[in-house]
Amino acid sequence: MQIGIIGTGYVGLPTGVGLAELGHKVKCIDREITKIEYLKKGEITLFESGLEELLKKNLKNGNISFTTSMQEGISGSDIVIIAVGTPPHPVTKEADMKYVHAAATELAQYLDGYTIIANKSTVPVGTGDDIENLISKRNPQADFDVVSLPEFLREGFAVYDFFNPDRIVIGTNSERAKAKLNELYKPFKEKSKILFVKRRSSETIKYASNAFLAMKIHYINEMADFCEKVNADIYEVAEGMGMDSRIGSKFLNPGPGYGGSCFPKDTHAMYFMAKQNNVELTLIEAAINGNEKRKKEIAKKIILTVDHIENPKVAILGLTFKGGTDDCRESPAMDIIFELLNYKLNIVAYDPKGMKNAKLILGDKISYAKDMYSVADNADLLVVLTEWDDFRNYDLNIVNKKMRLKNIFDTRNMLNKQEAFKLGFSFSSLGIGNYFDE
Ligand code: NAD
Repeated sequence: MQIGIIGTGYVGLPTGVGLAELGHKVKCIDREITKIEYLKKGEITLFESGLEELLKKNLKNGNISFTTSMQEGISGSDIVIIAVGTPPHPVTKEADMKYVHAAATELAQYLDGYTIIANKSTVPVGTGDDIENLISKRNPQADFDVVSLPEFLREGFAVYDFFNPDRIVIGTNSERAKAKLNELYKPFKEKSKILFVKRRSSETIKYASNAFLAMKIHYINEMADFCEKVNADIYEVAEGMGMDSRIGSKFLNPGPGYGGSCFPKDTHAMYFMAKQNNVELTLIEAAINGNEKRKKEIAKKIILTVDHIENPKVAILGLTFKGGTDDCRESPAMDIIFELLNYKLNIVAYDPKGMKNAKLILGDKISYAKDMYSVADNADLLVVLTEWDDFRNYDLNIVNKKMRLKNIFDTRNMLNKQEAFKLGFSFSSLGIGNYFDE
């Protein structure tokens, strides 16, 4: 099939490359000229494991191409996928639909023959109807169906998730669209569940899923606070809880709060939609407020550890919102650092992949270390904020000689606590009572 994809970000690019790898002819469109120039050369503009190799392969065999021209990308497509951003509105926090609406309006004029417009952007319920109206208005002759095709990939695992999705949700009532999408997803039929639902249900599934996962993280974070007070161990508690198949073991890791480009924005957007419809979503509201509070509390704990020290220096390990990605959007690390900056602390940070994006947000307000050990040079406190695998084997013997004062605060349970104690560090973590330190 010929497929046009609008938006070459964290969703559009892996989707385009994956579909090309399956043998489709894919044309990816983005309005950012520099991005398209890099992609044409086979260089990826974001970090996703395994993506660049597949991109290069499919550029070479001609299955994928890149353009800034909507006409060139859309003409002749059987399916057009919309994968543009839906960021939070700065004031109301509802999903800002300007990019989706602009894409729908622009693509309308280039439709020729029956085309499926599949929306992968996370959008408010009813957006499928809006896109339909925008296209019909602009091009009354167009023969098309608008389908909701929510994306569930995990950043950092986008390539793996493209080929191994847990489920594929397709929101449409059109038999023509169903037949075509069944053909598109034929290679996945053996290993993944394909669920056809009404378009509005599909749009809701995406928000309901993300809000649920955000609440699960918030829940385990609150349980971690409880464990600290009663001298229990959250990791043992989570292991025991996760053995219950009704609960499941995933998303039971305590940390400094959820972040990223999806959970914060989607919980807010869901809450906004519910309010508009006079529905109370008290659990989501609690997760949103609790998550904000948590980042402030983590910052407070850091400040209290160093506020008696003259000219204190805090070393931060991890800037991205999670390991395996370069994405710093809404990363708890960013919010925590901004909070620390109010107290005029010297901050130096290191992240395996996120330094470039972090610099765009934090600029020269902090210093950046060249590797994960030099970050600790003369530091008074070392704080782990992101769960990068690189930090799991962190050699505390090395930092033992580098730090001015020996304090560690590990919010992700990455470092070896026993070794830290042996070396004389003062060590704090989340969700483990002091009882275990004795
Ligand atoms: P992104 O910001 O990384 O990428 C969006 C791209 O769209 C940008 O490159 C931008 O230049 C381009 N774009 C915007 N308007 C355009 C237009 N009119 N024509 C051509 N290109 C245009 O965004 P993302 O993270 O890929 O997210 C896209 C959507 O998918 C969002 O709605 C998001 O909520 C959803 N989503 C994201 C993830 C994720 O892990 N990032 C997962 C599931 C769903």
